[in-house]
Amino acid sequence: MISTIPLLTISNHDRDLAGLTYVYPVLSRRAGGVSVGINLNPNNACNWHCAYCQVPGLVRGKAPVIDLAVLEAELSGFLSALVRGDWLAVNAPEGMRQIRDIAFSGNGEPTSAEAFTAAIDVVVRLRAAFGLDDVPLRLITNGSLMAQARVQAGLDRLAAAGGEVWFKVDAGEAAAIERINGVSLDPQALSRHLSICAAHCPTWVQTCMFRWDGEVPSAAFIDAYLEVLLGAGPERLQGVLLYGIARPSMQVGASHLSPLSAVELEQIADRIKQKGLTVRVSP
Ligand code: SF4
Repeated sequence: MISTIPLLTISNHDRDLAGLTYVYPVLSRRAGGVSVGINLNPNNACNWHCAYCQVPGLVRGKAPVIDLAVLEAELSGFLSALVRGDWLAVNAPEGMRQIRDIAFSGNGEPTSAEAFTAAIDVVVRLRAAFGLDDVPLRLITNGSLMAQARVQAGLDRLAAAGGEVWFKVDAGEAAAIERINGVSLDPQALSRHLSICAAHCPTWVQTCMFRWDGEVPSAAFIDAYLEVLLGAGPERLQGVLLYGIARPSMQVGASHLSPLSAVELEQIADRIKQKGLTVRVSP
């Protein structure tokens, strides 16, 4: 999953939701409610291979053909259970019985689905049908496909529905991007993709920082990271969501990673804030 927020997946406790292909519930204590996850990558395929990725059995590739009728039926059924049924009362502790968001956050890159835009349309339509227009809509993405017109069309739909993007940027040197995200990518292209994204839809940068072989990110590492954000135009960005690693990675290479302290993360946040960006830290 692209999100690095510490979450408690509860689908295995709910018989009605067991076996769904595209829809999954996640309880987040931090967010204080349930997030409705939309997974367009049930094949666990991503074009990146991040060292901290929490997808078990992650493979290289793209999303499969999406059966929109199944997506619609699953989401309709779950929203019905949430809004009209007793799902929240049965499954969510008191104080967490609310829908916090609907998030495209899959076991791979959501925008690699050819039906990405059509899937947004399904979600927007059902959100309205269940009277949930106030529930935020989010896309969690590695941003790698932002140059494609069909993805930009999806971003426009998301923006029109009041949605937002969480766009992954973890590093700003090509070697570091390759090491952390498992992809060969020119940092300038990363800036360009971020800039395109922000031009189409309100965009937060989502960043995961950690120790690698015990070493904290160096000053040069942070400088290069900031260059990517500055290259995209910081005034176009909503801000930065800065995460530590909260859950174990499922990937080979996870042994390189260990968490930064809360103080170390705050020091990095201060560097980012000095560039005029809003930063929210989640150790
Ligand atoms: S972008 Fe990275 S963290 Fe997200 S699914 Fe792909 S490999 Fe995993």
